[in-house]
Formats: sequence, structure tokens, C-alpha cells
Amino acid sequence: MLYSIKKTLYRIVYIVYHYMYRKNKNMLYSLMTDFFLMYFREGNEPEETTQITYRELLVQVCRCSNVLQKQGIQKGDRVAIYMPMIPELVVAMLACARLGALHSIVFAGFSAESLCERILDSSCSLLITTDAFYRGEKLVNLKELADEALDKCREKCCIVVKHLGRAELGTGDSPSQSPPIKRPCPDVQISWNQGVDLWWHELMQEAEDECEPEWCDAEDPLFILYTSGSTGKPKGVVHTVGGYMLYVATTFKYVFDFHAEDVFWCTADIGWITGHSYVTYGPLANGATSVLFEGIPTYPDVSRLWSIVDKYKVTKFYTAPTAIRLLMKFGDEPVTRHSRASLQVLGTVGEPINPEAWLWYHQVVGAQRCSIVDTFWQTETGGHMLTPLPGATPMKPGSATFPFFGVAPAILNESGEELEGEAEGYLVFKQPWPGIMRTVYGNHERFEATYFKKFPGYYVTGDGCRRDQDGYYWITGRIDDMLNVSGHLLSTAEVESALVEHEAIAEAAVVGHPHPVKGECLYCFVTLCDGYTFSPTLTEELKKQIREKIGPIATPDYIQNAPGLPKTRSGKIMRRVLRKIAQNDHDLGDTSTVADPTVICQLFNHRCL
Ligand code: AMP
Repeated sequence: MLYSIKKTLYRIVYIVYHYMYRKNKNMLYSLMTDFFLMYFREGNEPEETTQITYRELLVQVCRCSNVLQKQGIQKGDRVAIYMPMIPELVVAMLACARLGALHSIVFAGFSAESLCERILDSSCSLLITTDAFYRGEKLVNLKELADEALDKCREKCCIVVKHLGRAELGTGDSPSQSPPIKRPCPDVQISWNQGVDLWWHELMQEAEDECEPEWCDAEDPLFILYTSGSTGKPKGVVHTVGGYMLYVATTFKYVFDFHAEDVFWCTADIGWITGHSYVTYGPLANGATSVLFEGIPTYPDVSRLWSIVDKYKVTKFYTAPTAIRLLMKFGDEPVTRHSRASLQVLGTVGEPINPEAWLWYHQVVGAQRCSIVDTFWQTETGGHMLTPLPGATPMKPGSATFPFFGVAPAILNESGEELEGEAEGYLVFKQPWPGIMRTVYGNHERFEATYFKKFPGYYVTGDGCRRDQDGYYWITGRIDDMLNVSGHLLSTAEVESALVEHEAIAEAAVVGHPHPVKGECLYCFVTLCDGYTFSPTLTEELKKQIREKIGPIATPDYIQNAPGLPKTRSGKIMRRVLRKIAQNDHDLGDTSTVADPTVICQLFNHRCL
């Protein structure tokens, strides 16, 4: 009863709000935005909760735009952002958008080296970061990593949000009006570089509350987001103001069947495209109320997600198969302990969801009454491409079902011919859609070569796909040298080059290997230089090296000594054979092209599993 009164009230507020927006009745409009909730913020600790209205966000974004402007940021400039999931991250990205500057957000799990590479590639003129943060129980000293990155690529200035040290700031200094962090604040030693580092709260306190937005063309760039490239060098995917915004607003509305009274929650980090599109731009463009979550699903216990669902009465929930598989391991009780009665739609993204995980999501989490939307899309596509519409598309566990409105998929064979009916081959798109990336930052040839050269006239996704007799699309996985670890793409070349930078390694080959939680993990074959021996210490050193060069997400699960690698006579490493060796599968298919077949036997004997 109470719930339906609340729902009706929300609907009235929403309708009035949008009416005001259209009619531009400023006074009433601003009155509404004062009350209209944008985010329920939930920190790493369950008691760190705050609510942020659209009005509060607007003021903070204006202030931040003024701060950036004062630091010389103008339309077209690039600003790097390296932050955890705190409201200031959203403020910073929207402040860039307000000025027509491009934000380039680097996931806070990436290493200093990855941050530096991205800052240099798009010549960012400023970095916004945070002192430190907790991921569950783990303390991450982000400023230290930012300093390391800036040491290698001198920047003009670095704005630092005092997040862990917030308790000292008092109230009113942050958009979230965050309460002091309850966990005892450790003595986080952050170094301070005079003349380079500036405190966010000091700059924000002095800034004006109003800032005229910079008018932009629909085709002006909105942001850059780096994604792994098969050559090993990340690609700066560029999205535009008009097309991207339209596409994420529309897909958000229809794919999640958005209504005014909804509370939406996407668990993705804003450092990835899912966070850009469905934590920030999509929900905000629809005036939605969402949850902004800083923590992880297993802290303080494995029922955290479901306790948040109940706490804020989340109606639409969006996560990744890797999180579902992780939580499945702990059984049903941590889920069923919570009511979850508010849930209506459950989304998944990032990798193919195995039917077992799909069924658990549907039967246990959704109590068999929620629609599952398995959304297939990419950093490059900006928003959903293949997806069911909740309640309208009959579901099949593991299939992303059908194209979104205006999307024209096709399946091609190796010769580039379109296959009709039941078929399997390369997934391509035959016509553009509003959210398609426009270029690779600073390298338009690479954009054309990567996505349009293999099959001229088509956008090539790099994914394999099967269409069944009912016309449903099933993604079968990457068909290039990319790996999908916990829903994040990694290039084998990037990991291999991090390995061979170690003095003991002469050559390396990396392949994907099935993993019960991550979906796929890294299995590395390394050939040692003369004079070195393979040992657990070396393995640890190599893992550390990869963590430092790329970030913890790229840490390999297996590293195997490979006195030789299977190669073709022209010297190309045969990864297909290596994948089989990693899985101890002796059915290798045709090996007649292997230059030295004796290495295969050797590798089977050295397997690490
Ligand atoms: P990213 O650009 O990092 O978001 O990764 C995009 C890639 O993730 C796609 O090319 C697919 O390989 C994979 N992917 C994303 N969503 C799905 C999905 N729903 N089903 C299968 N694979 C997916």
C-alpha cells in the first residue's frame, strides 16, 4: 500500500518535472530538482550512505567547471580522471562535458604505467585523482600510483579529492555531504608536490555556483575511453556529444523499461564503458534515481548486493556474469535472506553468460518473476546492440536474443558473404547507429583498419556469433587475439610484451583458459633466456611485473615454462595448439604446419595444471 502511494507520488513528481523542463519554468523547475534524487550513494562500508539530488549535482558540476576553467581547461582539451566510485568522479566527468573538454577516465584498478600511457596518448593537460580508497578490506593508495604516472609524464596539475581523509573536512565540502568514514582511517601517507598538486575541496570552496555551459556541435567529441587493442597498444575510443547521448538515453529507457518510480542500479565501475553509459549518462539523461556503489559484492559479506537492493528498493539491476558466478558459489541463502521484492528487471553484460549462471540469476535472484536482459555491446558501440526487451522478448538462457531498434546485424563467413538463417560466423553490423564510436583518438587509420578493413562496408565486432533456427543471436566469444577476463577485454600482445620486458624471458605466448568465476583466465607460456631457471620466485616476479605494467586484472593464473613454442614455418605462434595444451586436450587437429612438432610433446609434459 505504502509502496503504491510512493510510486504514484513519484510519477506525479516525474511528470511535473518533465513538464517544467520542457516549458523552462525556471523557478518551479529548480524547486523540483532540489528534491529529485539522483543518486543513493553507498560507500565501501554499509553505513556510509548519502543522497544526492539533481540540484546538488548541478551546483557541484558548475563549481568544478569553474575550477577547471581556472586551470586553463577549454573546449577540446583532454582531462584524465583516475578515481574510485565516488560522487566526485561523476562531478568531474560532467564538468568536463559542460566545458566541451574530453574526459579520459582510467579505471582505478589500472597501474601507474597504464595511466601514464593513456595520459600521454591523448596529451591530457590535467589529472583528477583521489588520496586513497578501500576496495573491501584492501587499501589502495591511489595518489601514490598517480604520482608514479606523473613522474613519467609531467603534467601541469593534479587535483586531489580527499576521500579517505574526508572526516577532517567537516560537512558540506563534498557533493555527497559524506559522513565521516566510519572505518578507522589509517595513516595514509600521501606525498604532496607543491606547485603541481591542488586539493579539490579548497578549489571547490572558492568556486562560483554557476557556469554557463559551452555550446557544442552534436558531432563534437564528448569523451575518450581506452580499450585494449589486438596490437597491445590501447585504443582511445572517441564518442560524441549528440549520438552517444541519444543512444545511451534511448537504450537505457527501453532496455530497462525505465519508469519514473524506478531505482536503477548498475554495479559497473565508471572506469569502464558500462559505467559511463549506465551509471552516468543513460540514467541522468532520463532523470532516473540510481545507486552509486563504491564497494565490492563480497564485503562485508557475500549478501551485500542483495542487502543494498532491499535498502534502496532497487527495481532494475545490472551486473556482470563474473559477479553472478562468484556469488553462486556461496549458495542461495545469502540471496534469499533478503526479500528482493522490488526487483523487476535483471541485466547482464560483459561476456557470454553460461546457462547455469543465467538460470541461477533468474530462479534465485529474480525468484523466477524478473526478466533477464542479456545485453551484448562494446566500448566502441556506446550502448546496447543485441538485447531482449524486458517482458516483450521470450528469453533463452545464454542468448542476447535480437538487435535493438535500428541495429542491423549480420553473420559473415570467412569470405565476407552474409549467411542466412541458421548460421555461425563473424558478427558484423551493416549500418551505423547513433552511438557508434567516431574515431580512435589521434589515429583515424587505425579506426578504419580495425573495424572496417576485414569486411569492407561492415563494422566488425571481433566476436563470433551463431544464429539459431528462431533467429536468436548467441555470442560465441572473441575471434581475435583478445581475452575476456571477468568481462574485461585484454590483449594477448599487451600481456606478452609485459612478460618479455623481464630480463629472464626470451619469448612469451598468452592464451585464454576456462575459469569457473572469471569466465576466462590467462595461461602464459614463457621461454627463458640462457642462464635462467624456471622457479616459483620467477613466476611471482612475472606476475608482479604484469600487475605493475597493466594492473591486477591482468594477473595470470598460470605461467608455464616453454623451452620451445609451436610455430608455423613462417614463425607464427600457433595459439590454437597452445590453448589445447593448456587444457590438456590431445585432440590438436591438423598439426602438419608446426615447424617443430617435438615442442608440443615437451609442453604437454611441462603443463602447470
Ligand atoms: P568491452 O568493450 O570491454 O565492453 O568488451 C566488449 C566485448 O565483451 C564484446 O566484444 C564481447 O566479446 C563481450 N561481451 C559484452 N557483452 C556481452 C554479452 N552480453 N554476451 C557476450 N559477450 C559480451
